Amino acid sequence: MNFLVLLKQVPDTEKVKIDPVTGTMIREGLDITMNPLDAHALELAVSLKEKVGGRVVVLSMGPMNTIDVLTDAVALGADRAILLSDPALSGSDTWVTSLALARTIRNLKIDFDLLLCGEKSTDGETGQVGVELAILLGLPVLTYVSELVEVDTSSVIVKRSVEDAHEIWRVPLPSCLCVLKSVAEPRLPTLGGKKRAMNSNIETYGIKDVGLEPEEVGLKGSPTRVVKVFNAKVSRSCKLYSDREVVRGIERVLELIKLSLEGDS
Ligand SMILES: Cc1cc2nc3c(=O)[nH]c(=O)nc-3n(C[C@H](O)[C@H](O)[C@H](O)COP(=O)(O)OP(=O)(O)OC[C@H]3O[C@@H](n4cnc5c(N)ncnc54)[C@H](O)[C@@H]3O)c2cc1C
Repeated sequence: MNFLVLLKQVPDTEKVKIDPVTGTMIREGLDITMNPLDAHALELAVSLKEKVGGRVVVLSMGPMNTIDVLTDAVALGADRAILLSDPALSGSDTWVTSLALARTIRNLKIDFDLLLCGEKSTDGETGQVGVELAILLGLPVLTYVSELVEVDTSSVIVKRSVEDAHEIWRVPLPSCLCVLKSVAEPRLPTLGGKKRAMNSNIETYGIKDVGLEPEEVGLKGSPTRVVKVFNAKVSRSCKLYSDREVVRGIERVLELIKLSLEGDS
C-alpha cells in the first residue's frame, strides 16, 4: 500500500507579521519547521507502511528551504521526498497551491492508495488545501479523521470527529484523509533515520517540470484578493450592580438575552 503525505513548511514562531500593503505574511528571516499537524499524518503513513508494507512519499510546495523539512521527513521514515519550488509560485492562494500540488502528482505520476494531509496549517489555518486537492484529483475525501480503525487492500475504515460525536466511515481506495492529531503520535528520528536522511536526494521541480504556466500561478493565477488586513479591536462596556441592586442586574441580563434571541430569529 502506498502513501502520499502532504507536508507544509511553516514559520517556527507564533509571532507572525503581516505586510499591511499586500496583506500577505512576512516570511523573510523566519525559522521554519514542519507544520506540526502534518507530523501526525506522516506518522500514520509510516506506521501503516511498517504494518502492511508499501512506500511513503512526501510532497511539499514551498521555498527552497523546505528541503530541510523534507529531509526531516526522510529521517522519520519517508522513502521519497518531492519539493515543488519556483519563484513564480510566490503569492499563490490556497486554490493555486492545490492546483500546483495536483499537477505535480499527475505529471510525476505519483502512485498512491492513501493521500494524507493535516487538518490545517498553523499559519494560514484555512484547512482548504487537502479538500481542494482531493476535488482536483477526483478523490473521495474525509475531514476531521480522528482514528484509522481498519485497512485492507481496497478500503479503509476511519473514525471522524463531529462536534459531540463521531462517525464511522468506510472509504474506497484511493482516497484522501485530512487527519487530526489523535491519528498517531509522531516518533522522534533515530540515528539510522538521520543518517539515511543526510544521504537522501530531495527531488526538486519547478513549475515547467509539472506542466504549469506562470500565468496560472502566483498572485496572477489566484482568485483570492486580500482586501484589508487589520487587528480586530474588541471593546466591551461594563455596568456594575451593587448587592442591593442584584435583582435589577438579573432582570437586565434576562432582557439582554431576550434581545439577542430576537435578533437571531
Ligand atoms: C493572496 C494570497 C497570497 C499568498 N501568498 C503567499 C506567498 O507568497 N507565500 C506563501 O507561502 N503563502 C502565501 N499565501 C498563503 C498560501 O496560499 C497558503 O499558505 C497555502 O495555500 C496553504 O493554505 P493554508 O496555510 O491555509 O493550509 P491548510 O489548507 O490549512 O493546510 C491543510 C493541509 O494541506 C497541506 N498543505 C497545505 N499547504 C501545503 C503546501 N504548500 N505543500 C504541501 N502541503 C500543503 C498540509 O498537509 C496541511 O496540513 C498566500 C495566500 C493568499 C490568499
